[in-house]
Amino acid sequence: MIVQETLAQLVAIDSVSSRSNEPIVDYLQQRCETLGLVAKRFSYTDENGIEKINLVARAGPTSSDSEIELALVGHTDTVPYDPNWTAATKLTADDEKLFGRGACDTKGFIAAALIAVEHVDLASLRRPLALIFTADEEIGLRGAKHLAQIKPFRIRYSIVGEPTSLQPIRAGKGYSLAEVFLHGRESHSAYPALGASAIVRAARLISRLESISEQLKTDRHNDFDPPFTTLNVGLIKGGTAKNVIPGECWFGLEWRPIPTQSPSRVLDLLQDVIAEEMKNDSDFRCEVRCDRNDSGFETDEGSPLVTFLERATGKRAGTVAFGTEGAQMKLLGSEAVVLGPGNIREAHRTGEFVPVAELNHCVDILAQSIITFCSEKAGF
Ligand SMILES: [Zn+2]
Repeated sequence: MIVQETLAQLVAIDSVSSRSNEPIVDYLQQRCETLGLVAKRFSYTDENGIEKINLVARAGPTSSDSEIELALVGHTDTVPYDPNWTAATKLTADDEKLFGRGACDTKGFIAAALIAVEHVDLASLRRPLALIFTADEEIGLRGAKHLAQIKPFRIRYSIVGEPTSLQPIRAGKGYSLAEVFLHGRESHSAYPALGASAIVRAARLISRLESISEQLKTDRHNDFDPPFTTLNVGLIKGGTAKNVIPGECWFGLEWRPIPTQSPSRVLDLLQDVIAEEMKNDSDFRCEVRCDRNDSGFETDEGSPLVTFLERATGKRAGTVAFGTEGAQMKLLGSEAVVLGPGNIREAHRTGEFVPVAELNHCVDILAQSIITFCSEKAGF
């Protein structure tokens, strides 16, 4: 089968994260088994009671079930699409591009991985290969986190499919989220002395977050742009009426830690400034709820996987400022590189597309990587 045809079939299966990913997993399992891989499901139930499935399809020696030499990792879910985009699940093409939800993020990579395996003589593999298809990447890397938690195997090298325009990405920042709740005392705004404003307290804390931002700039990782942990207060809500001293205020804090820094560093700094506020204002009450604290990942620039992919793509390895499943692959023991056809700037948009030339090139790169890392011709 040619890669476009496979991509068309994948795009035709609606796999928005809110749905069960069983239909796409059924398709992938059948494709993998036809190719001679042995597939296994690692399921969990999401918070809506829907079963989500990670599929792991293996080839090569099976003497050690717990070791995988090379894993090609792609997420099965996509972000939702605008109902007005009527062709979202029908792959359409012009001369150079293929359009459809997931074509870029990340079904193009999955199609390339399936065709790459088709091009390789699996009987010649001396070290285990796995195709790993995860669930719920778009809503917090949940499928990959499930695998990282149960640790059913170790992986030595992994290529994580994300649209990078085929540039190898050897490091990524982490992703963390916290909700900060400030309490005050409601009263009539004509008599401020009777109350305490939760919004003013939030404002004080947020201005201290600006100093934390400055402090974070001193801990640098020069391979990133920007080369330090960044933070953002993206949401705030407080008060009930213009003439009421607000009793409650809430804000959402997000930060993207460089991989050389503990993702808890920002939380520690936040707790320090809360402690100072409490010293200045004995009535100051505040709770912090951390909802996500995902570390980043970094693979050494001298890693055989990095040097191989730099050679195969003709591009120098780089870094990205967003979270990927690279971090979970690292927790499974792996040196990870993120790579895939398509541009991240096209992902998640109506009219998302993957360039045909990059898709075809990705097939070659993945086939070469399987031969290099898993077959007897290994030469690194
Ligand atoms: Zn993706």
